[in-house]
Amino acid sequence: MAEDEDPPSFDPRTWGRRDLPPPQPAPARSIPRRRLIAAGGAAAAAAAAGLAFLALRPSPRRAGAAAQPGLPPPIPLPATSDLLALEADLPKNHVAAQDSAAAAQALLRAFGSASGPFWIKVQTEGGPPPRRILWLEARRDAQGVRLDRVDDGFRAASVPVRLTPRLRLTDATDIDKESFYEAAAPKMADSLVYEFVRVMSYDFDFANDFWKGGQFQAGIEEDYDDVDRLVGKPRLVMAFIQANPFFDDRAGVPRPGRSKRLFRFAGDGAWYDFAGTSAVRSLLRTPVDGARVSSGFGPRLHPILDRIINHMGVDFACSKGTAVYAAADGQVIECRPDHGRQSYGNFMLVKHDEHLVTGYAHLDAFGEGMVPGVAVKQGQIIARSGDSGQSTGPHLHFEVRYDKTPVDPLTFENNAVRRLAGTQLDQLRVRARAIEEASR
Ligand SMILES: [Zn+2]
Repeated sequence: MAEDEDPPSFDPRTWGRRDLPPPQPAPARSIPRRRLIAAGGAAAAAAAAGLAFLALRPSPRRAGAAAQPGLPPPIPLPATSDLLALEADLPKNHVAAQDSAAAAQALLRAFGSASGPFWIKVQTEGGPPPRRILWLEARRDAQGVRLDRVDDGFRAASVPVRLTPRLRLTDATDIDKESFYEAAAPKMADSLVYEFVRVMSYDFDFANDFWKGGQFQAGIEEDYDDVDRLVGKPRLVMAFIQANPFFDDRAGVPRPGRSKRLFRFAGDGAWYDFAGTSAVRSLLRTPVDGARVSSGFGPRLHPILDRIINHMGVDFACSKGTAVYAAADGQVIECRPDHGRQSYGNFMLVKHDEHLVTGYAHLDAFGEGMVPGVAVKQGQIIARSGDSGQSTGPHLHFEVRYDKTPVDPLTFENNAVRRLAGTQLDQLRVRARAIEEASR
């Protein structure tokens, strides 16, 4: 019942402006608002009790019937903003006022609320006006209802609305704006921009990666009914980003250009690339909030030893006592206190699966209850950062080890992420190919 009262969360520029109802004359309000609200409440109660009208037997008569002999042709009404307006519109089309009110009430019970827009087709009896309604079909978004005359009232039945999804692709658009949002907002609904950013944020840093250009494209699926009206809300089904190479000031290294194309898999609603690899990484990119990378992964001149050594992790500069999070679900396997001899100071290791381990060094203190064997959840505070061990200042040294080999936490493509296989992968690829072909 709340569905239609929920304001659409997407940008109206991107969909059926042509479908919005024309301005309506002020309706004659012969249904008092109170009655509408009360009837709406009753419909909600019926729906809650499992008595939704959808359970009713569908009408045996064909929807959209042609003119019957001896009857005037069915009248399609212009889009009606709500059921009060409909009650006023019907008499203008020679429908008896009493029947108009009864039909509006029957539709209110069937739809659960009065707000539209509704599209209506009505068949009246012949003879001089005002005429009685023989049947009436109403549609709101993907919901259709047919009223058939029974004695002095109407019997309501649901009419299935066949929806055809259509793919719409935005142009490949340059990201030449101050923010990705600024570039994307004219191309798609806000809700889709947010989803786009969410699914891509495992691979791209939207705060820093984009101001120097690149391109994006979105694939959007929209539902059309059998008379070509856009109904419901658009869905993002493909997201593509081509990022230009840039110099990463945080890590102090150049980053190559890269691109990513992701598809939403209808089977589970999650996002995958063409190889079937989930967009979601199982590791947090940074296990401390708002921290700056003070030293990247790889060879560097060691600030204390004054010789080139291989830096096995990434350093995040952060003040002493900053919360350190578990990068993923796992089990603490090492919690080694500083004895003043270890270069890593207070050090923790968390094992995530048979391949993947993360390490946290130079800690000020371990989190409460952190001992080997304890299970931790992703994002749980496991320690406070500090500068214990051989350290030039407060920071977190973060290590990712895959099969015991340290890898760059900032670029690591986690093999532990979910992958589609078999029939599911085939289904994803069929869909992905169709979208890619459409985008050429
Ligand atoms: Zn370090």
